[in-house]
Amino acid sequence: MKTLRDMTEPELRELMEAMARSIEKMAFAMGVEKPQFALLVWNDPQIAQYISNCTRETMIQALRETTDRIERNQDVPREGSVTGATGPDGDRIEIEDALLVGENELSKFLVGRVEGRWMGFALQGPKGQGGMFVFTELHEGTQLGLLDRERAIRLTGAVACDPEAMYGGIDRWHVPAELRGRPDDFRCVLCSQVGCDGVECQEPTGQEEVGP
Ligand SMILES: [Zn+2]
Repeated sequence: MKTLRDMTEPELRELMEAMARSIEKMAFAMGVEKPQFALLVWNDPQIAQYISNCTRETMIQALRETTDRIERNQDVPREGSVTGATGPDGDRIEIEDALLVGENELSKFLVGRVEGRWMGFALQGPKGQGGMFVFTELHEGTQLGLLDRERAIRLTGAVACDPEAMYGGIDRWHVPAELRGRPDDFRCVLCSQVGCDGVECQEPTGQEEVGP
């Protein structure tokens, strides 16, 4: 087997043009309006061959925006597992089905499942090395996390955007508009805290607890 580097110019051109034609053919066969594309092919990433059916400017723009997007998201997979360290002891927690809700320059905000419940987090630093913060606002009674994933996504956005919580808001959302929570959607009518269900802020502390 040879590599792309071993091919002559005419062979290389023939191969690239055949691949380009097959992209257009497949798109047509599947009923897709003729897409523009830039195809990169390599054995050695330092000398990738490319072919495109658009202008040079359009291709550069598409490649640049794609690499930017990949770089922004690669440390928090949209739907994947994240392992983070929380707390002063650096307890490791495994977050399943993590979804990036939004981000700002300092933090990424995500929702994921921990032991069956949806929890909200802030990851700080470009690679999360600035620490992970669990949003305690997502709770039911004394149990951290929610059973309703959509509510968890909206509440995580609301906490990130709550000026009192000091997370700095969300500059770039990664969820559709109907899942972008606002602080006022979750503000307690009694104590005005985001995420309070109006019960715990009214509970007397300790003494009057009833139980077996
Ligand atoms: Zn309250």
